[in-house]
Amino acid sequence: GCAMAGSGAAGAEALCGAGAGAGGPARPGRPPTAPACPHGPALLFVKTSQGEEEGRRFYACSACRDRKDCNFFQWEDEKVSETRLAAREEYNRSHQPSRTHRQNVERYKNFILLPLAKRRFCQECQQLLLPDEWGKHSNHQLLCDISTAQLQSPSQLLYPLENKKTNAQYLFADRSCQFLLDLITDLGFTRVLSVGTPRLHEMIQSKASKEEDYRVRSLLLDIDFRYSQFYTEDEFCHYNMFNHYFFAGEAAHETCRKFLRQEDGERVIMVTDPPFGGLVEALASSFKRLMAMWKDTEEGDPVSQEMPMFWIFPYFFESRILEFFPSFSMMDYQVDYDNHALYKHGKTGRRQSPVRIFTNLTPRMIVLPVEEGYRFCAICQRYVSSGNQHCEICNSCTSKDGRRWKHCFLCKKCVKPSWSHCNNCNCCAVPTHACEKAAAGCFVCGQAGHKRSTCPSLSCS
Ligand code: SAH
Ligand code: ZN
Ligand code: ZN
Ligand code: ZN
Ligand code: ZN
Repeated sequence: GCAMAGSGAAGAEALCGAGAGAGGPARPGRPPTAPACPHGPALLFVKTSQGEEEGRRFYACSACRDRKDCNFFQWEDEKVSETRLAAREEYNRSHQPSRTHRQNVERYKNFILLPLAKRRFCQECQQLLLPDEWGKHSNHQLLCDISTAQLQSPSQLLYPLENKKTNAQYLFADRSCQFLLDLITDLGFTRVLSVGTPRLHEMIQSKASKEEDYRVRSLLLDIDFRYSQFYTEDEFCHYNMFNHYFFAGEAAHETCRKFLRQEDGERVIMVTDPPFGGLVEALASSFKRLMAMWKDTEEGDPVSQEMPMFWIFPYFFESRILEFFPSFSMMDYQVDYDNHALYKHGKTGRRQSPVRIFTNLTPRMIVLPVEEGYRFCAICQRYVSSGNQHCEICNSCTSKDGRRWKHCFLCKKCVKPSWSHCNNCNCCAVPTHACEKAAAGCFVCGQAGHKRSTCPSLSCS
């Protein structure tokens, strides 16, 4: 069956069972079924218009929600001529970065040999410049005197790609990044597979370069190729997390596999903070394949069944994530960001962030900072936010957003404090909701991408 992609696009576009026919590079013994765009194998979606029962299936880019970024499109049953296939291959080749990762590593080696006064970064081209290239960039905005510290924090040097639909780079606030790293270290992990977490990666890398006995290592997997200017091929892989595609092919695969191999008690954890645009199913399918890579490399440790993981995502995706990873639980910790107006905590008065950590580790091991108001609930055996009251009837700390929720006896569960029970809809909802009103998308909130049964503004889901 097809699951909703929750893309919020007009009409209904859904992802069709990712990992089945769709996406993924060739597996041994199996020819690739999906056509490819410059971002690797495309994903299979289905378009349904109202009244139609079965929609028509088509392939589209896995990475770019916005057609402007990649307009790949092909009906599933479309016959593509040899000429068009050849043209497509050529197009895909020509749309790869102009320099290879290896070349970028060479450039970096030369760059760090330069005296400070000759170290320049072009803000327009987002690249480190070597002196013989200055001429070509003379009309561009340049940053000069690039220090070693700056080179160690590329996420500060590069501008965040804020294109909501495609890259959506929201960088951790220092406090949250530090918290994550402390947590990882306290839990005894020494290897971090950083999937779409460049800031966590750079925090680890920069510690490793400063502190001699620092043992934690990180491998960054990210689609943002700009990072290849700052990291070697053992530190960064150009990777698409929506179709588990390594752009550099088998060599990069092997780098990742090698990193996941647990030797001498080196324990690995994967941390990921994907764009929130939806496609949970595609992400889950990729993460399962990363977990499988870990399991394959693991040498006879029957106790650990799953690669430990932190999946950082908004709380309203909880049920979607649990669908694919039933062993996960959501932690109350609110992850803060630097460049996200909505999610960041102001200087005064905390703004609540909806972003949480989902993990397959035992909840009670995830110690949350008491200074920030988190406390341990002895009954739930996990840390909860200060406003999260243990409900005697539900027998759990039920708040998802940090505010104190209230129990509804009719719904038989706790609901947001601002909601009230609606007798028309037979459940609790925002007082201003439109009762049973037929809408193109969801009954309740009118938005496309989900149905009433999974509406985030309704309690009876
Ligand atoms: N909070 C994190 C950044 C999260 S933003 C931090 O501070 O480290 C999402 C990240 O995922 C970005 O780094 C972005 O480049 C990356 N990304 C976006 N789409 C991707 C894709 N299809 N495959 C892999 N990485 C992707
Ligand atoms: Zn509790
Ligand atoms: Zn309750
Ligand atoms: Zn109710
Ligand atoms: Zn109602």
